[in-house]
Amino acid sequence: MLTLRRRCGNSVVRIMVTERSDGDCAPLDGSAPQAVTVLRQVHGTRVVEVTRPGGHQGTCADAAWTSAPQATLAVRSADCVPVALYGANASGDGAVAVIHAGWRGLLDGVVPATLAELRHHGIRDVRAVVGPHICALHYEFGSCELSAATTALGPSVAARTSWGTPALDLREAARLALRSHGAVIDREIGRCTASDERYFSHRARGERGRTAVLIRLEPKPWPERPMSGSEQEQEATGATTGRFTSPLGRPEPKPKSR
Ligand SMILES: [Zn+2]
Repeated sequence: MLTLRRRCGNSVVRIMVTERSDGDCAPLDGSAPQAVTVLRQVHGTRVVEVTRPGGHQGTCADAAWTSAPQATLAVRSADCVPVALYGANASGDGAVAVIHAGWRGLLDGVVPATLAELRHHGIRDVRAVVGPHICALHYEFGSCELSAATTALGPSVAARTSWGTPALDLREAARLALRSHGAVIDREIGRCTASDERYFSHRARGERGRTAVLIRLEPKPWPERPMSGSEQEQEATGATTGRFTSPLGRPEPKPKSR
């Protein structure tokens, strides 16, 4: 898991990017811990506001935002683009958001819809962390859909696979959508789900598993002293440290009925 900590107004934001070794997050929509909002993702553009930890659990939506401390928001993906956003209002109160952005969501505008929602609530200086997704070299795309994508997003999203067929560049599509609607890209996790087996890939390996990107506002204020690089960014895998516990936890077994 990659963990990033960032300043967000008067708060600290924690962003977590899981890997295969952290477990399969696909089953979590029915069994996530109470404080985690896991959406039922439908490749749409609906954005929900989460007002308490665990709010909107299982709601059909592809984006969520919150200003509630300790409400963890999660999106799950295998090849689609997961995005975590953070920003603050004029008083310094932080807000965070997540987006599940597949090609359909990108074309239909799930990224601008989410940024508009944040802006509507006075959240400014929005920054984005873009999680692992399939790269253009491995993302063959029908030429009909590709022309719809270039019309909606611009010619630079058209690419070629490593085997020479038309491809969609999801990273470029996410970049364009974020930047053209006022978000600054803080970090792109430049890893391809098709070629990096730390992640699940539906397209490359037919996997049903999902990794997750999670974000939450931490309760404690930003420290007075500057944080060191290692405080801002930690990467740990269960295999190497043996101490790691997923913030999502493993799905708990259902209690036995008496
Ligand atoms: Zn790739």
